[in-house]
Amino acid sequence: MKQFLITILFLSSLLAVDDSVNIKAKVVEKDVVVYAQNRNPFCITVKYDASYTNLSADKKLPLLFVIKPFTKEEILHLKILKNKFSFKAHYDWTIGSKDAKHDDSYIYKLPYKTGTVQKVSQGFNGKFTHFNNSQYAVDFGMKEGTEVYAARDGVVVKTKADSNSGGANRSFEKHANEIIIEHNDGTLASYTHLKQNGVLVKVGEKVNRAQLIGYSGKTGYTRGPHLHFIVYKATDGKNRKSFPIKFMSAGGIVNNPTIGQVYRSH
Ligand SMILES: [Zn+2]
Repeated sequence: MKQFLITILFLSSLLAVDDSVNIKAKVVEKDVVVYAQNRNPFCITVKYDASYTNLSADKKLPLLFVIKPFTKEEILHLKILKNKFSFKAHYDWTIGSKDAKHDDSYIYKLPYKTGTVQKVSQGFNGKFTHFNNSQYAVDFGMKEGTEVYAARDGVVVKTKADSNSGGANRSFEKHANEIIIEHNDGTLASYTHLKQNGVLVKVGEKVNRAQLIGYSGKTGYTRGPHLHFIVYKATDGKNRKSFPIKFMSAGGIVNNPTIGQVYRSH
């Protein structure tokens, strides 16, 4: 009987304790087969790389691919060339599909009650935090407990409402309460810094434009109470790209929400 020396190691840099995404290799007869499983209710984009010896892969690495919600699929197949082989893999994943194409003609509702006004406290390319992955985010300086409304139809794919902690330091980032809504073009909207228990919608729920979805707050990485709103998609296993969206205000279409300006929701 043949003896196989198998070294299969996996390193996931992200969310070591989170098993919502699972990528595993199995030896099946003379092959190593790698399966990816996404247990989340949203698409994910994965970057997968591996180093190996005495194996022959059916695809060129690294792989960059999208897995649909609640799906498991084979992503890689390697032939065992010699009994003694090694295999070491690494992957990153991020929420959303890299293949989403934003509908640039869509005019978003300002995410607060129709007829009310809010002041922009940070616009596109804002110097405090609106760069890189957050380039086209908009902050509305609303006071804690202000009603937040959906800016566009979609399906809720993620919520967090249990945090009561926030501050002007990156270490607070993971403590932000938020709602993430997926649009029909595959892009995502995040409504962030919501107050504790300030989420009125559930994962899987369909929401309509102008539907009340939660209450603003100051949780997470923030200097004070406001709503951070952004529309984006994944670009690879770690990064995302945001879109310079347009809003409808009582005064007309807003192409570039500007710091210090006040806009009335329509
Ligand atoms: Zn912001």
